[in-house]
Amino acid sequence: MNDYERWERATAAVAADYAALPPMLLAQVDEAAQAIRMARRELHRLAEDRESTVICASCGGECCMRGKYHVTVADILVFLAEGESLFVPRFDRDACPYLDSHGCIMEPSLRPFTCITFNCERVEGLWESERVEEFYRRERELRKLYENLERLFGERAGADRRIAILGYDHVLER
Ligand code: SF4
Ligand code: SF4
Repeated sequence: MNDYERWERATAAVAADYAALPPMLLAQVDEAAQAIRMARRELHRLAEDRESTVICASCGGECCMRGKYHVTVADILVFLAEGESLFVPRFDRDACPYLDSHGCIMEPSLRPFTCITFNCERVEGLWESERVEEFYRRERELRKLYENLERLFGERAGADRRIAILGYDHVLER
């Protein structure tokens, strides 16, 4: 099975598991997913400014060159809960499969944890200490929100399914 087939099967499996959630748990999962999205928006707002944008544009997105396993089951759940259409990754080249010629396929509030919480030293070096502190406080909050969503979905799917999306299908096959 190639990566594209694995992606298709894994996302379909998550969607099926999500659709089969009992109503009360489904409502909790939706609420947890919405909280993650809002927290990501805040992190992005904190990280984005004119100077950082200029630095990132001149760098060309070095930090997006490798990202195959960034997307997790929890990230797919946020797409499902928020009614967002899933994209088609590009596994046919040696770069992050979620990157196209305009940048990340996902808008900031839908990007994986590792991506939305990463700023290299060139960017973070521009920030005053209060901003760095607030960013990492919000990062810790986001981590807890992920844990909550993974726990809720894990009650249905099992703890060993809290994994990168490309591994989800393997768990189903066991
Ligand atoms: S965060 Fe750093 S490595 Fe990533 S695009 Fe911006 S300047 Fe480049
Ligand atoms: S998922 Fe998006 S933000 Fe993350 S590394 Fe890939 S292209 Fe960059």
